[in-house]
Parts: sequence; C-alpha cells; structure tokens
Amino acid sequence: MAPAHVLILPFPYQGHVIPLMELSHSLVEHGFKVTFVNTEFNHARVLQALPNEGGNLKGINLVSIPDGLLPGEDRNDLGLMTEGFTKVMPGHLEELIRENNEKGEDTIKWLIADQSMGWFFPIAKKMGVRIACFWPASTACLAINLLIPKLIEEGVLDEKGWPKREEMLQIAQKMPHIHTSQMAWNQIGDPRGQPTIFKLVTDNTKYMELAEVTVCNSFYEIESGAYTLFTNLLPIGPLLPDSKFNKPLGLFWPEDSTCMSWLDQQPPKSVVYVAFGSLAIFSEVQFKELAHGLVLTGRPLLWVVRPDFTTGLSKEWVDDFLEANKEKCRIVSWAPQQQVLAHESVACFMSHCGWNSTLEGLRNGLPFLCWPYFTDQFMNQSYICNVWGNGMKMETDESGIVSRERVKDRVEELLASEEIAKKVQELKEFAARNLSIGGTSYQNFKRFVNLMMEE
Ligand code: UDP
Repeated sequence: MAPAHVLILPFPYQGHVIPLMELSHSLVEHGFKVTFVNTEFNHARVLQALPNEGGNLKGINLVSIPDGLLPGEDRNDLGLMTEGFTKVMPGHLEELIRENNEKGEDTIKWLIADQSMGWFFPIAKKMGVRIACFWPASTACLAINLLIPKLIEEGVLDEKGWPKREEMLQIAQKMPHIHTSQMAWNQIGDPRGQPTIFKLVTDNTKYMELAEVTVCNSFYEIESGAYTLFTNLLPIGPLLPDSKFNKPLGLFWPEDSTCMSWLDQQPPKSVVYVAFGSLAIFSEVQFKELAHGLVLTGRPLLWVVRPDFTTGLSKEWVDDFLEANKEKCRIVSWAPQQQVLAHESVACFMSHCGWNSTLEGLRNGLPFLCWPYFTDQFMNQSYICNVWGNGMKMETDESGIVSRERVKDRVEELLASEEIAKKVQELKEFAARNLSIGGTSYQNFKRFVNLMMEE
C-alpha cells in the first residue's frame, strides 16, 4: 500500500475547482502527491487570487493547459467553452501524462476527474492510468443524467433532451421535484449551446463505466433517494476546507477578508449574507430592487457583488447606496464564503443555490432564501424548499421581478420560522455526524483512499 501520484482534473469552472481543491488537500494529508490541472485562463486567475505569501499548497502542483478559446472569448458561455476545451484538452492532457511518466519516477497512477471531463477517460485508460470519477453537484442531478435514456423512452424528453411533456417530475421518493423545462442541460443561459451540453452530459454518463469508482460531494441522509436508485455511487461529502481556512481553494477572485472583522462587530445571528456564486448575473432593475429590499429589512447586510455581477449599473449608484447605508451594509467583490458562513453573526443565506453554496450553508446551520439562476440550481432549490425544509423561495411577481417588499417580507418570514430553524439544526448535525469518525462519508472516504493506495 502506497499513496500514489494523482492527476486532478476539474471542469473549468469555480464551483468545480473548489471542491476538487478541498479533495486534493485531504489526499495530500494522506500522503498523496497531487498534480492539479487548470486551464491556462483559470490558472492565471487562481495564481493572482492566492494570498501574498502564496498560501499552503504543499503537496499540490498547479499546472495548466490551453482551453481552445481565444483571449477575449466569453468563458462564461458553457456551450462555447465546452466546444473549445473538448477539442484541444485531450491532446494536452495526454502529453502532460506522457511527459511526466517518461521520467520514470512519480508516475501518475490515478486520474480523479470531474464527471463532466469523462471524455478523457478512454485516453487515460489507454495510457494505463486508473480512473476515479468525481461528481461535484447533487447526486440527484447525476441520477437524472443517468436516467436520460429512460426519460426519452417514456416520452418525457425528446432525443435532443428537450421536454416532450410539460410537467413536474420526481424520479423517486425523497428526491427533488423538477419541472421538465428545468433540466440542467436546458438551463445554461444561451440556448444555442444546448446541443453541445446535452451531448457532453449523455457522453459522459457512458464514460463513467471506465471509472473504478464514482465519489460524490454529498452525504447519504440528504440524498437517500438518489443513493437507493444508484447504489454504486459513493458519497464522501460534504467536502471541507481545512479547519483554519488557510489552505488555498483555487479561488478565481482574491477574497476580501476585511468583512470578517466587520462581522465580528455585528450581533449574533443578525446578518443577512447575500451571494450568488461565480456565474449568476442580475439585471440592473432587479439589482436595485434587491438592494432596497435588503435595506428595508433593517438588518446588517453582507453582499457579494462580483465585478461582472450586473451590467448597466453605475459605480456612482453603488457608491451612493453604500454611503446612505454605511452603518449597516458591507459590499465585497468576493468573500471568504466558507468563513463567513461559519461566523456566528450570520443569520441567513440568500443564495443562487449552487451545490457548493447549498452544502456550505447547510453544514453551517443556516436557513436559505433561494434565488436560483441556471443549470442544476432549480433542483437544489427544490431540495431545500420541498424535501429538506431548510429554506424558502424568492418568488417573482407578474413582471418577473422580486420586489423590495417581497425581499423584506421573505427575510422576516424565514427568520421567524421555528420549523425551518429546527430542520436547519437537524441537517447541520447530520452533516457533522457523517464526517466524524465512523460516519458514512468518513468511511467511504477511507475506502476511496484505500483503493487508490492499492499497488
Ligand atoms: N464563493 C466564495 N466567495 C464568494 C462567493 C462564492 O468563496 O464571495 C465560493 C463558494 O464558497 C462556493 C463557490 O464559490 O464554494 C461557488 O460554488 P457554487 O456551486 O455555490 O456556485 P457556482 O459558482 O458554481 O454557480
């Protein structure tokens, strides 16, 4: 038994890089050597966002390869990105492994790749590299992907993945309800990319057969429906950063840690934390309405507004808003989110329901206000509001906007709900139990590590 040299390959987006960095740190603690592959574009962002002293990347070698896009092309366009990287990355990855393994020492023995990078599995296999598949979103989302042929056969979807029937779907007990029009591959922003993404999804579910194991960033209690359907999937989550939060997570923006001392000054359980992940965008009208609604709550507010979060909004407007509300409001362009969510001053989390944010809020015992934007986020909202009971939806009015009054009312309703508070506490305990010695995810992680130590 010896820890191997492992090549880690995330899908090139922030919500995929972070959990695989968390996994990488855990593997390093078990003695593994990790080579972590980002696209050149993301690699540059990760390097510039590292803390000044570089952070503790001991045992992890960050490397990069091209993504096939030109410098100014829109990398937030999932379809365009996927077309680009699936063309050029296979060759570069093959070369990277070959060059490393020709040296004769520290041979790359395992590939741990995002399931969405499954197109590389046949090449890795041919090169004699063993494969572990990593699924970073909800297992329910993977279960739906695996059931696509059945959904087509039953006339729910057509051959191209579009709904044939407009209806709510729940594929098994204890699983989220999802409208057939809200399948993740049909909710990617620009619909022109749908054929590319649908093909990626259906191809990758086939390539999964080449992996010796599929591990998921989830845990049994919250997704027992999905694990009953697919007993071969191994939950090892929720993946965690190190307890002192000083190991880099591969962030794309430098985190503004000054909000932590601001949080220290707020009363316990008072702050509304608002963050919509790395890709969601808001219209100017909705942004302003939300800003006014948050002020109406009268509560302290910590809000992540990425530089590209909204178009058309003037800096002047934001400056005036901040000046008028400086006693209570803090806006940052990127927060140390996991530290924020663990802070005792935070009362609730207004979120786009990306899976990482969903797990991070859940394991820190926070109630959610759900504002999904795209892909699997509608399904995660359904878990929160229909299955787990740890949050509420932010509903739009007839003009498609969530009004300022609605924002204020929802925050109050959420924080007044004893039922939600009880569920939140239960879920937090489930998560902690899973990760403690003897917990299911803990044991699964040990199994996973033992497999990768096999000679
Ligand atoms: N995140 C962060 N700082 C922020 C906002 C988000 O560190 O200000 C992290 C967050 O903790 C999570 C990830 O970015 O781990 C976002 O992933 P998620 O799946 O929630 O959403 P996505 O960005 O993929 O839409």
